[in-house]
Formats: sequence, C-alpha cells, structure tokens
Amino acid sequence: MDFQPTEMQTELSGLARRFAREKIQPVVEQDEHDERFRPELIAELGQLGLTGIPVAEAHGGAGLGYQDYITVLEELASVSVSYAISVAVTGLAQVILEKFGNEAQKQRIARLAAGQAIGAFSLSEAGSGSDAGSLRTTARRDGDHYVINGTKLWTTQADSAEVIMLMARTGAADDRTRGVSTFLLEQGTPGLRLGKREKKMGCHISHTMELVLENVRVPASCLVGREGDGFKIAMTALDSGRITIAASALGIARSSIEVATGHARQREQFGKPIGEYQGVSFLLADMATRYDAAKLLVQRAAFLKDQGLPFSTEAAMAKLFATDMAMQVTTDAVQILGGSGYTQDFPVERFMREAKVLQIVEGTNQIQRMVIGRSLLKTH
Ligand SMILES: Cc1cc2nc3c(=O)[nH]c(=O)nc-3n(C[C@H](O)[C@H](O)[C@H](O)COP(=O)(O)OP(=O)(O)OC[C@H]3O[C@@H](n4cnc5c(N)ncnc54)[C@H](O)[C@@H]3O)c2cc1C
Repeated sequence: MDFQPTEMQTELSGLARRFAREKIQPVVEQDEHDERFRPELIAELGQLGLTGIPVAEAHGGAGLGYQDYITVLEELASVSVSYAISVAVTGLAQVILEKFGNEAQKQRIARLAAGQAIGAFSLSEAGSGSDAGSLRTTARRDGDHYVINGTKLWTTQADSAEVIMLMARTGAADDRTRGVSTFLLEQGTPGLRLGKREKKMGCHISHTMELVLENVRVPASCLVGREGDGFKIAMTALDSGRITIAASALGIARSSIEVATGHARQREQFGKPIGEYQGVSFLLADMATRYDAAKLLVQRAAFLKDQGLPFSTEAAMAKLFATDMAMQVTTDAVQILGGSGYTQDFPVERFMREAKVLQIVEGTNQIQRMVIGRSLLKTH
C-alpha cells in the first residue's frame, strides 16, 4: 500500500474536485432546498469518465480500482453527499451486474458506467432493515416468468433509475439466506410504481423512494445469478458499498475542517482570533487527526479489495470509523463556527445532517460492529 497518490488518482481527484466546485457547488444549496436532483450532472460526470470507475473497460467502465474510486467520491462528497451517493449507488448496480450478471445483463452496464442511466439497489422493506434476510416481497415462478409482489422502502433514486437491482423472496419465509433472489427490473415495467418519497433530515437532492410491486411479471432472464443467490449478492455488494460510504464521509469531514479552520483564523473574540485559544485549536487538531486515521482505514479497505484479498471486515471498520468520525467532525465544526455554524450561511450544518445518514445506510454502525465482532470471534 502506497501513501503517495498515483498520477491517475491525482488526475481523477482533480477532475472530480473541479466538477464539484464548478457545477455542483453553485446549485447545491438551492437544490437541497428544492429537493431537485439533476441527472444531467451525472451524465456530465459520465463524460468525464467518473461514473464507471471500478468496472472493466470491456463493460464500458474505466477498468480502475477502488483506490481510484474513493478519491472521486471524497471530492464529490466534499461538496454534496447526495451526488456522491448517486454515483455510488449506480456503481453498486454495475458491480452486481459485472460480478453476477449473465452476458445479456452485463450489456446493461455500459449506459450506467457512462452516466447515461442511473441505477438503484432495492433491499430494505418496512419490516426488514438491519435484518435484511427477513424481507417479505415475493417472486413466484410462473413458467418462464416470475411474478413479484410487495413493497420496498428506502430505495435511493428509484424515481430516476433506469434499472433497479431488487431483492425478493423466492424460497421459504424462514430461509433467511438461500430464500432470496436478485432481479434486474426496468423502470416502467407494468405493476411497478413509485410510492411515497421520504421527507428527510438531509440529502434532499437524493430522493429516497417507496417502491410498490403489484403482480410485476418479468421474464426469468431478469434473475441475476441463480435463484437463492440474492442474499449473497446483496451482502457482497454491500461490502464494496461500505467503502464508498466511508469515502463520502471523508469528503464532508475534510470540507468541515477547512471551513472551521478558516473561521478560527478569521473570527476574533477577546481581542484575538479564536484559533489562538487552545480550546479551539485542540478541537481542530483532533478533527484533523481523526480524518487522517479514517482515511487510512478507507485506503486499506480499498487496497485489499483491489488486490483481490478478503476485505469485508476492513470495509466494515472503515465504514464504522469514517462515518462516526464525520459525525463528530461536522458537529465540532458547527461548534467552532458558534451561532453561524447553526445557520444556513455556512455549509457545516448541512454537512452535519449529511453525516448522520452515513451512520445508517449500507448497514447501520451497530451492524458494522456485528460484522467486525463476528470476524474476531469466528472459529477457524
Ligand atoms: C436516506 C436513506 C437512503 C437509503 N437507501 C437505501 C437504498 O438505496 N436501498 C436499500 O435497500 N436501503 C436503503 N436504505 C435503508 C437502510 O439501509 C436502512 O435504513 C438501514 O439498513 C437500517 O434499517 P432500518 O432503518 O430498518 O433500522 P432497524 O434495522 O430497524 O434498526 C433500528 C436501530 O436498531 C439497531 N439494531 C438493529 N438490529 C440490531 C442488532 N442486532 N444489534 C444492535 N443494534 C441493532 C440499528 O443499528 C438501529 O440503530 C436507506 C436509508 C436511508 C435513511
């Protein structure tokens, strides 16, 4: 593992940083207010080659690794977590299709990798969040078709997605792992409709949707992998996804440290800049140290994944530490800005709200601790 960014990583992060500052920054606050997602920005990111980084060139991607991918996501999240998540979730669909899809399904990757289409990942339901294996949406085999019924919750960008990777039950209700299968669903399939859009604390640009499935009839060729592989596919995807969420946490933490440091230099109280008081400078020192520690964990998980080595525990550690770090750092940044930190005149209150969701998605941080604990305690 090398601490020096490669030329490619420097180029990618520079591209992503410029794009985030020139294209997302000017609209982000108003769009957060208006809950407006701009798919055209994803298409532009695609033209820059930033929406299909970890998939092979043969499938339309950049054929690069997660060490490259995390540099891009950190830059996007340093301005808007919603756009980083959009790229990451579309990336999740690509990674699933590349690893588990058949040849025809792999053809679907190119549009996603080019930013011309958006992907979604639909696992959670009202009754099954952390306990994903208890999902109740059913897919019943009917000749050469499956008929899917149920209601999914929390599906990020289901309203703008062209393809949705959806988990449904094909086996017995008490078969938590082998009873679940993954399906590639097309937007507009009869019987598939959008339900309510969640009213959230933050990340308003990113729409979080209920999905209702009423007798959705799809050809059996929409099955991804084999029947019963769905839980394994979802968990494999989430292992990689956790690295992307951790990278997003780095972005908001870094921006918060920049804003707080600038404020501590310039804001004077009792006749001198507040940064000259140890109470503030030590807070900044802890923020910067935590950020660097988190970055090393994220880089290690990405490195292991790129090497084809086991990385599940390390991805859980990176997600847990980086997102808890982002929550702490964004909260401390608000504190350093004082009353101004609590207003929308500065982005740190938004970053604080965005940090919170990162502790919840792709497995809550309690679930990350379960993953890490199990790996420590497993018998060899
Ligand atoms: C903005 C947003 C976007 C999302 N996007 C998607 C998406 O695109 N696709 C998708 O499928 N899902 C998505 N989700 C759902 C997300 O993955 C779940 O919210 C998450 O997994 C937690 O599930 P839950 O909300 O049902 O909470 P629960 O599972 O009910 O958990 C509630 C609390 O109990 C704790 N808990 C649960 N079980 C245990 C345990 N065994 N030990 C200790 N503590 C435990 C949890 O950590 C949590 O603190 C999204 C959620 C949000 C908020």
